[in-house]
Amino acid sequence: MTNLEVSPQQESCPPAPAEGRSGPCLQLWPEREVPLGGVRAMNVKRTLPQRGLPTIGAWCFLDSFGPDRTAMSVLPHPHIGLQTVTWPLAGHIRHRDSVGSDVVVRPGELNIMTAGRGVSHSEFAMLPADGGELPLQRGLQLWVALPDADRHRAPAFEQHRELPVASGPGFTATVMVGEFGGVVSPATMYSPITGADVACEGDAVLPLNPDFEHGVLVLDGGLAVDGEDLPAGPLGYLGAGRSELRVQARPGTRFLLIGGEPFGEELLMWWNFVGRTHEEVEQAREDWEAQAALPDAVAAGARYGLVRGHGPDAGAEAGRIPAPPLPGVRLTPRKRAVD
Ligand code: MN
Repeated sequence: MTNLEVSPQQESCPPAPAEGRSGPCLQLWPEREVPLGGVRAMNVKRTLPQRGLPTIGAWCFLDSFGPDRTAMSVLPHPHIGLQTVTWPLAGHIRHRDSVGSDVVVRPGELNIMTAGRGVSHSEFAMLPADGGELPLQRGLQLWVALPDADRHRAPAFEQHRELPVASGPGFTATVMVGEFGGVVSPATMYSPITGADVACEGDAVLPLNPDFEHGVLVLDGGLAVDGEDLPAGPLGYLGAGRSELRVQARPGTRFLLIGGEPFGEELLMWWNFVGRTHEEVEQAREDWEAQAALPDAVAAGARYGLVRGHGPDAGAEAGRIPAPPLPGVRLTPRKRAVD
């Protein structure tokens, strides 16, 4: 997926809900509705980044969409400096990218695209072959910031159709990335990180890495953490220093758990780019716009490569997403209000 905001601003985040506190706190950060552009407009709920909370570990972006019958229809667009993590909850998505991938990802399967110095991709809902009604669509798209040492690497894509499962008192967790409960995902990551899709009910005790900060996004049901209600909607932020998480879960509760070592580098995020400086992001934007004028054979060797299948004959799938204009002010990194 993409950040399709027509005028992405750095000032679009709500303020921090509470004073920053260190240690094993729990803070609720509100989700915000973001209308994505395009012919079939799609609304997503964004819980990362937040003003005052740009990252949780290296996780720097968290969008959830659906459940609804809006078909994802995202034309080729570029990324730098991040990995996209796509986790469908309902519906199938076709992913095509400039490293030559053309795959369908389904619930329970994970797509990881490493942008490195530059990649482009498209994402479309798989429509029913018989022309019938689109099934419900629901999913999560996350970005992981690449650390400085790895952010200029060559782009890559991998799909994991089977992921390991961790379980313990009251819970079962699919380990999407990194390590959780002693179980390690095969996904390639570049920083100490965790990401799991957790099912739980009643009293559950989840093992956590005390060096990690964590985020909890309830997908179904609801939780109480430290006696505080954590409903579906906001992102629950848990500061580092917890070696376990005790929760009381309503029947049928499912949540996303993300975490990692607090990311020590200040990021400059704008549109679909994760960089460090204004100039770098400006150049990334210019490079994408310059590619639009190139013949396919030349574009294939350019910074963002070529996503095949979106040429002039592709009907509704013809084209690309142009970069929005940069705001009239210098881009600056977001600061953390929590420590
Ligand atoms: Mn994207």
